[in-house]
Amino acid sequence: TVTTRFAPSPTGYLHIGGARTALFCWLYARRHGGRFVLRIEDTDLERSTPEAINAILEGMSWLGLDYDEGPLYQTHRFDRYREVIQHMLEEGMAYRCYCSKERLEALRADQQARKEKPRYDGRCRDLTEPPEDVEGEPVIRFRQPRSGHTVVDDQVKGKVVFDNAELDDLIIARADGSPTYNFVVVVDDMDMNITHVIRGDDHLNNSARQGNILRALGVEPPVYAHVPMILDAEGKKLSKRAGAASVMEYRDAGYLPEAVINYLVRLGWAHGDQEVFGLDEMIEHFDITDINHSASSLNPSKLDWLNQHYMKTLAPAHVARHLAWHLGAMDIDPGTDDGPDLEQVVQAQAERSKTLVEMAENSRFFYREPAGYDEKAARKHLSGSEAVLAALVESLSALEDWHAEAIHQAVTGVAEEQELKMGKVAQPLRVAVSGGPVSPPIDITLELLGRETALARIEKARE
Ligand code: GLU
Repeated sequence: TVTTRFAPSPTGYLHIGGARTALFCWLYARRHGGRFVLRIEDTDLERSTPEAINAILEGMSWLGLDYDEGPLYQTHRFDRYREVIQHMLEEGMAYRCYCSKERLEALRADQQARKEKPRYDGRCRDLTEPPEDVEGEPVIRFRQPRSGHTVVDDQVKGKVVFDNAELDDLIIARADGSPTYNFVVVVDDMDMNITHVIRGDDHLNNSARQGNILRALGVEPPVYAHVPMILDAEGKKLSKRAGAASVMEYRDAGYLPEAVINYLVRLGWAHGDQEVFGLDEMIEHFDITDINHSASSLNPSKLDWLNQHYMKTLAPAHVARHLAWHLGAMDIDPGTDDGPDLEQVVQAQAERSKTLVEMAENSRFFYREPAGYDEKAARKHLSGSEAVLAALVESLSALEDWHAEAIHQAVTGVAEEQELKMGKVAQPLRVAVSGGPVSPPIDITLELLGRETALARIEKARE
């Protein structure tokens, strides 16, 4: 079975680049009916935090990226790592290195002076006994092949050839016995039967080392696909400041997860010139060999466009659940507070909002009496509209059925009677009930507000 993994280091939130990697891994597993594993690479005890773990889990869940196994924590697996190290020592795949820090530093300086790539010279590679003058505990190094080449047939980058002589005898365990990063990744990929490693291309160089350790252990390395990074809208490297935003910031800014997912998949992957993909379509078409070879740039206006698309086309009940979250942030609970059914609000607002935040702000008046009137709108539309408002109250309170059509007739009736253009009636009415100059069509707005609330607000505007 195809098995992919997303393996974040919990040192910060789930940012947009990590989320895209997770999505690619998830899609690939789903496309092949395989398994998707979430592995938390938390062995860097100083930089890993529980908050970051929670942020990653929250981000995955908000995006809807479900995993078949996990979260697995590397910190829970130290016994297993020790076991593999022991095995490698016994089988001669690894050796103890007693070289002192001073010696290694001198070696490095010497190599630098000769403009050579700094690397361990293998002095302890063939020791049969510890040297006599050792101080402290040895580190453990992987016995890397010394000659020949290691070829990584990367699904994105193509064949990448590494000269084995240039690959270090990597330290797999430190003097205190703790396993190192590249080593635990190998043990995990092996134990979890990972078949496809999809990750950022900053790990491309690691893949030769990791593959060689796997081969030494008698395991065929997984297929690698190293994904180019994401650049900001100006084409610069993403920094926290410039848009390397956490996935949750996209939620907070009012984007639907569907829009973010669609946006992410298009950052570095294409299927013809199609822009909008439902999940099923993504799963059907996604392939790692179609991942772009070069970096892709953020394009905020595309995200806005996708978000509007999904607000209009997803089931209103679904959009309503997300809108409810934003209203909640404004202390409004559409489930219990007086006001219209939220699904209907979504239907009325979908066309006129860019984000859910905007939709929530523009829908506040359905659930809360406006705190006051927009000053400019009041000056323009309310003052001098006493007669219009009086006629509206009369005509609207006489309605038998409170629905958009009847309301529309009542409002046009008042316009005709007073020989006014429709706007001269609708705008004062709109400001009276919503507090401002924009809302869905006035008849729908009044229907959603309900008779009592609407009439009470018009009365109030007349005071
Ligand atoms: N933990 C690594 C990272 O966050 C990913 C390692 C991997 O995918 O092999 O960059």
